[in-house]
Amino acid sequence: GAWQESVLYPLRGKVALVTGGSRGIGAAIARRFAQRGADVAITYRTHPDEAERVAADVRAFGRRCLYVRVDVANREEVASLVERTVSELGRLDVAVANAAVNLSQPVLEATWESVHRTVDVTMFGVFHTLQLAAQAMVRQGRGGKLIAIGSVHAEIPFPTSAAYNMSKSGINNLCRTMARELAPHRINVNVIEPGWIDTEGEHDRYTDEEIKAGLSRVPLGRMGEPDEVAGLALYLASSEADYVTGSILRIDGGITLQN
Ligand code: NDP
Repeated sequence: GAWQESVLYPLRGKVALVTGGSRGIGAAIARRFAQRGADVAITYRTHPDEAERVAADVRAFGRRCLYVRVDVANREEVASLVERTVSELGRLDVAVANAAVNLSQPVLEATWESVHRTVDVTMFGVFHTLQLAAQAMVRQGRGGKLIAIGSVHAEIPFPTSAAYNMSKSGINNLCRTMARELAPHRINVNVIEPGWIDTEGEHDRYTDEEIKAGLSRVPLGRMGEPDEVAGLALYLASSEADYVTGSILRIDGGITLQN
């Protein structure tokens, strides 16, 4: 019946956009949204083959998928992504600003170039994505859901990551401000702060030994799975979360409980 349908397919008839959908957390979110009924637009930057694989999975769920090469630091490219999503998939109901980069360096040695690039992608990329998506949603007049993938590093001053950490703090305040301004339009804006998630990006960054050592900081004793983050994103994207706005939700295995 209709009730069963809405439980199994909470995003039926919706269109979602996910930046950085080719790998890691973004790819898991795109797949989960499609599995639960949404058509999905994803972006990739350096991994077209991975994006194509995600698109194939989305289509295997019977949903439509648009994948576009986008640098989220480039406002024109994000604008064209939003336009193409609305024109090719018909509407926009959910936007997930997930793409980020951490060109990590200790502050004393940091080059301005890498600091600027990190903030351009991780903070301004989120601004472009959420602002342009919000404008499209307001034009539609049907409300919507905006989600930023932040990080526990908004609070934990993780060394060598100053530009990233300050970008993640910045998007928290962006989202809380947008939540207030957009409430009259029935657009909910929330942040997910993952802790340490088992993605390709982390394995590029750290050796297996380093990961094992790092896990001593995690009360639950393991990394989180991208699929677990996708579950929280699905909740925030669905009508179950219609009363949730301006929230910063952690999914971190308890990492922020330790000093
Ligand atoms: P990955 O490095 O595994 O994947 C990053 C994704 O973002 C890829 O799809 C990549 O595209 C895309 N991307 C990178 N730069 C840009 C850019 N300039 N423009 C558009 N797309 C871009 O990352 P994760 O899945 O690990 O991280 C996803 C989000 O989760 C980020 O916001 C990250 O800060 C956050 N996070 C992750 C944690 C973790 O432990 N993994 C912990 C806390 C937060 P492509 O590969 O095609 O270049």
